[in-house]
Amino acid sequence: MRTQRGVSFILLLQLSLYCSSIAADDQSEIISRFQSYLRIDTAHPNPDYHAAADFINAQAKSLSLESQTIEFVVGKPLVLLKWPGKRRDLPSILLNSHTDVVPAEHGKWSLHPFGAEVDASGRIFARGSQDMKCVGMQYLEAIRKLKSSGFEPVRDVYLSFVPDEEIGGHDGAEKLAHSDLFKQLNVGIVLDEGLASPDANYRVFYAERSPMWTVIKAVGAPGHGAKLYDNTAMENLLKSIESVRKFRESQFDMVKAGLKAEGEVVSVNMVFLKAGTPSPTGFVMNLQPSEAEAGFDIRVPPIYDQASLEKRIAEEWAPAARNMTFYYKQKASVLDKSGRPMLTATDNSNPWWLLLEEAVKKANGKLAKPEIFPASTDARYFRELGLPAIGFSPMANTPILLHDHNEFLNQDEYLKGIDIYTSVIKAYASYGGEWTRDEL
Ligand SMILES: [Zn+2]
Repeated sequence: MRTQRGVSFILLLQLSLYCSSIAADDQSEIISRFQSYLRIDTAHPNPDYHAAADFINAQAKSLSLESQTIEFVVGKPLVLLKWPGKRRDLPSILLNSHTDVVPAEHGKWSLHPFGAEVDASGRIFARGSQDMKCVGMQYLEAIRKLKSSGFEPVRDVYLSFVPDEEIGGHDGAEKLAHSDLFKQLNVGIVLDEGLASPDANYRVFYAERSPMWTVIKAVGAPGHGAKLYDNTAMENLLKSIESVRKFRESQFDMVKAGLKAEGEVVSVNMVFLKAGTPSPTGFVMNLQPSEAEAGFDIRVPPIYDQASLEKRIAEEWAPAARNMTFYYKQKASVLDKSGRPMLTATDNSNPWWLLLEEAVKKANGKLAKPEIFPASTDARYFRELGLPAIGFSPMANTPILLHDHNEFLNQDEYLKGIDIYTSVIKAYASYGGEWTRDEL
């Protein structure tokens, strides 16, 4: 017992000396590489995708990773990197991240959104610091660590740096997922973005809500503004809005009561209301218009019966009996191509889930209860194919600032996230389970 304790003490001492001697240099290089990526202005509507691709390719070269740059759409390069594994027969791992970011209103930031400056408390301010240039670089830094430790993957590890996620991903991840190239990758698991967590537990996502952007329209006989009569377009639309509001409230109440998480309910928000007869001074005040329209951003979790919601829209929110029609501006199914709900299992049936849980724990991280992502990410294009995909951006103790002013990530959290990913990639790339993709 005494001897063991002595040995562990020496080991600990050596370990801490080792850490403190190499850490400072290493860390400043790691942070400076992150800053370089953040400084590339990849904000819509004119993202500098080529600069981002050049940067990623330079990183790949320094890590001796295989690289190819694909333009499914001209001007929108997608960089695919490969760290070959020893067993080509096993399904591979795909680490996905998007290179684009949403625009920043420069005037509303205290530091330049593409300056990547670090303040006195170590916070790195930049658009994309949380969403999601951090994750793309953390994958690469984790691989750098694993390579320098001599680790060799059993499976192929791919990294995709995709364009256009912030505008729907159609020219990026969607094209990749539908390509012949993708079939050749024989992907078995995808990791993609999650969200920051204000507490000490990392958030992790096993599904996401599907958008059903719905426009409902009412028509009715126009008439004098002073006349009371039935079936005006405005009255009919208002009845629908009332009904939508009740449904919205019933869903929101479950969240407020703590019965369901945000991603587990249907969210409905009215995003536009179009009605009235324009006049040179505003709107005609003594005329009831013949048309009125409203738009709703609806998001449906894959655990909800989407068909019942469609029925509700047709029968209650836009019934033909009230002279109403509707259409979907966008509607995504909650089912994958084989008709199964797009959910990645978070139990014993999914070895990738168990490996992730274990690897995070090993790196001294804690996972929160898995959630359904409230909005959309590129992960849906992979789940649509029936692949397991986990949304995970290791940022604990961090306010959620994606798409917000003054987006930042503390450098300590960023570095911790690299350790987490080192552990996860190591676990995934070492896994030699004999099952194939079809068995997942
Ligand atoms: Zn994102």
